[in-house]
Amino acid sequence: MTIASKTLKQFNLRHTNGREEVLDLFLNAGRALAHHDVENGLGPAHDRVTIYRTLRTFLDKGLLHKVLDDEGGTKYALCRETCADGHHHHDHIHFKCEACGQTTCLDDVVIPVITLPKGYDRKETNLLIQGVCQGCNQ
Ligand SMILES: [Zn+2]
Ligand SMILES: [Zn+2]
Ligand SMILES: [Zn+2]
Repeated sequence: MTIASKTLKQFNLRHTNGREEVLDLFLNAGRALAHHDVENGLGPAHDRVTIYRTLRTFLDKGLLHKVLDDEGGTKYALCRETCADGHHHHDHIHFKCEACGQTTCLDDVVIPVITLPKGYDRKETNLLIQGVCQGCNQ
């Protein structure tokens, strides 16, 4: 059994080739992918709507999380083991490289505690740091 099909099983998701291929893409990428990255990675046999639904399902189930991009678009990245159905548990930062354009999860770098004024309820915190990544710095 492949890692992707094992993961689908673990998250109680029905196995389809499309789901497995999308998940594989993320497992191999090691970085955040935009919708068009997924489309390009899968080839013309996959239609946009199915890809969109698959990403949506993965988000809901805790396999993927959203990564905000400086260009206003949304990217998606794999969650770590700690996320489950409807619950995302991570406060890591995201790094966007200006040289290669890739956005990566820095899983071990945690967003510091931010205190909000009275009357503001925090739901989600996103922190994007831009600069030059390790790979491009060499
Ligand atoms: Zn998550
Ligand atoms: Zn880079
Ligand atoms: Zn992330």
